[in-house]
Amino acid sequence: MSTLKAVRGTRDLLPPETELWNRIESTARAVFGRYNFGEIRTPVFEDTQLFARGVGEETDIVSKEMYTWEDRARAQSEKAQSLTLRPENTAGVVRAYIEHGLGESGMLQKLFYIGPQFRRERPQKGRYRQFSQIGAEVIGPVSSGSESPLRDAEVLEMLASFLDELGITGWKLLINSVGSASDRPRYIAVLKEALRAVAPQMCGDCQRRAETNPLRVLDCKIPEDQPIIEALPRIADYLDDQSKAHFSAVLAALDACGIVYEVSHRLVRGFDYYSHTTFEFQHGGLGAQNALLGGGRYDGLSEMIGGPKAPGIGFAMGEDRLVLTLEAQAGQVHPALADAYVAPIGEPLNSAALVLARELRRAGLRIEVGDGSFRIKKSFETGNKLARNIVLLGEDELQSGMLTVKNFDSGEQTKIAREALASALTASHE
Ligand code: AMP
Repeated sequence: MSTLKAVRGTRDLLPPETELWNRIESTARAVFGRYNFGEIRTPVFEDTQLFARGVGEETDIVSKEMYTWEDRARAQSEKAQSLTLRPENTAGVVRAYIEHGLGESGMLQKLFYIGPQFRRERPQKGRYRQFSQIGAEVIGPVSSGSESPLRDAEVLEMLASFLDELGITGWKLLINSVGSASDRPRYIAVLKEALRAVAPQMCGDCQRRAETNPLRVLDCKIPEDQPIIEALPRIADYLDDQSKAHFSAVLAALDACGIVYEVSHRLVRGFDYYSHTTFEFQHGGLGAQNALLGGGRYDGLSEMIGGPKAPGIGFAMGEDRLVLTLEAQAGQVHPALADAYVAPIGEPLNSAALVLARELRRAGLRIEVGDGSFRIKKSFETGNKLARNIVLLGEDELQSGMLTVKNFDSGEQTKIAREALASALTASHE
């Protein structure tokens, strides 16, 4: 029988790497908490219409990359429904915002999420079919201040602080404005017109996008197309005064915080819902998939999925790519050692060893328990691989309450009273 493997584009995350994942997630929770964000968890699958309307039919994600299926009716009364594994989380958060009337409080909603997303992309390093995003959204009625450029700047400042706190160095922030819902059609019309003349000399994808989604032409990475793209009209020249003022205010606030950025007029990103500010944090160590995270403002998204006016701004970070970047910076991740390996000497002491381990674990220590069937030599060899110390528990130790402890680093062997053991082990690695 052939062996079964994880499906292409998906993978198992194993220790010790999962410790890095947990560290990233706890840093995100801690940093976002300081900005007063709360956590939201939305379902992993949604009605397909949510993404078709929210992300946009013409986007690559919706047109080619979604895992969609017809969920069959189970009873006469139940209708079949088209469902989709979420390819991103912003549409789900905005759906939840509408469904639960979160805007009715009149307050700004600041929500973050951590979870898997699914896209049927061609797998490569840093690109998977199931990947994890950590993201956040700031959304609310206009009266809550949701349109303010200060919100954009605060989100960007939070991201810079998060990456710094995580210890990721060498990131680059690219920022742009894609204008308002009325600026963009004017620009797209001019862009379409300009593309009509040059598209035939461009790659197949650009030729298609020139018709279906001209903004995406600006994302093209094919070297031969670059001079043509550089010569195309730029969105900055089609922003109205209000859009220009919004963008300048965001940049001024970033300057005030000392956050370095680069304005990139080609940063339009892959979703239809963006307006005004769009941004991306890149990292050179990631190779072709160099975007650590991306985001932007989405002032019309709520209306696109049938909700009230609720301007917002958000981002999604690729957790897989944060892990890759940290691993590249730190080199190989080593498994964490336990504080002690409790070695029962002889099988009759197995349950006594478990009791001792229970005491030490309850004192907050990380403990491995051996097996009394092991010879002493094997216990030492195993303990040395897994822990900083070995604690021997024979009949004598059990009766006298004096335990033999050896520290593998120093080679020092001591006798420690059972009551003092937990604090001695804690002190041994401080
Ligand atoms: P997007 O939702 O496309 O704006 O992507 C936001 C971030 O999610 C990107 O910057 C990546 O870090 C990450 N990301 C997107 N697609 C994938 C994928 N297929 N595999 C791994 N990470 C991804």
